[in-house]
Amino acid sequence: MIVTETSTEPAASESWQHGLATAVRDPDELVDLLQLSDEWREPARRAARLFPLLVPRSFLQRMESGNPLDPLLLQVLPLEVEEIVPADFLLDAVGDQDAKRAPGLLQKYAGRALMIATGACAVHCRYCFRRHYAYGEDPKRLADWEPAFQVLREDESIHELILSGGDPLMLTDRRLGELCLQLQAIPHLRRLRVHTRLPIVLPERVTPSLLELLTAGPLTPIVVVHSNHPQELSGSCSDALRRLIRAGCTVLNQAVLLRGINDDVETLAELSERLVDLGVLPYYLHQLDRVIGTAHFEVPEARGLELIAALRPRLPGYAIPQFVREVAGAPHKVPVTDGLMPSL
Ligand SMILES: *Cc1c(COP(=O)(O)O)cnc(C)c1O
Ligand code: SF4
Repeated sequence: MIVTETSTEPAASESWQHGLATAVRDPDELVDLLQLSDEWREPARRAARLFPLLVPRSFLQRMESGNPLDPLLLQVLPLEVEEIVPADFLLDAVGDQDAKRAPGLLQKYAGRALMIATGACAVHCRYCFRRHYAYGEDPKRLADWEPAFQVLREDESIHELILSGGDPLMLTDRRLGELCLQLQAIPHLRRLRVHTRLPIVLPERVTPSLLELLTAGPLTPIVVVHSNHPQELSGSCSDALRRLIRAGCTVLNQAVLLRGINDDVETLAELSERLVDLGVLPYYLHQLDRVIGTAHFEVPEARGLELIAALRPRLPGYAIPQFVREVAGAPHKVPVTDGLMPSL
């Protein structure tokens, strides 16, 4: 028998799936890996029952061991405070249910429609505005998407299709390819936008075949990633962002203003600088959506305005994100400005 030497390196397409399969889901394991004290265990177990813990090891490696206030850890660690529900925090704070045009297809704004391509994510962000979204009702198989494609084909006012979720890059390249083929066949569509956190939390997802898929067709590719803290943008993550840009994608970042994580000028300035150094433009800084279980992350809007004002004299104009909030029923994301918004 001839034994051929085979590489033990997994193929690129398998390595991101391996990264997912080995992600940390057990609160006790998280506490152990980061050498946190035992007091974190029971609250984490409890809160993980409300919204499961999920964090890939490559993201975990960017956290500081033994530091319960690590800004990356705070985004994923289930906490007791999630059980506190102020009266004005809702299940669907952003009006998703009223914006449905077909199963899995939302439209809130002129010219742009958004597909909930999958409910799955590679990380569970504790502040997520869709932590209560009823993903179970959305299409699973390609055939189930037909009503959504039908709306897109018939409505010539839609020029941009946004793949969102969950995280659309949780789909295999094959599934994504099938979706893209359908979209590419719609003549009035011009741009394909992908809203994803995978290049940040699981950078190995940015494979050559994904890049090919995003850039090969007639649609202009725009990738909006989601990073909240400069510590997220380490080696493999910055390489992934550079690959997207080199392949021809416009890459933008959206962040959420989060208490104890990025609500200070130094952090926001460094986030913007690291992003623009990589060629990624800061797009939005979102005021937290008032969704049940997230109240402890909220930063008063007035503080957000101060932070943006403090960034302006320090950075080029293109490095200042637009500070916005989502108002259910509004025709666009609404800039947070002094006086116009209800004060917190
Ligand atoms: C946020 C959002 C968009 C994108 O808005 P932009 O201002 O274009 O970034 C589009 N559709 C829906 C349903 C959204 O929630
Ligand atoms: S990746 Fe996005 S959709 Fe998924 S949990 Fe985080 S914020 Fe929510």
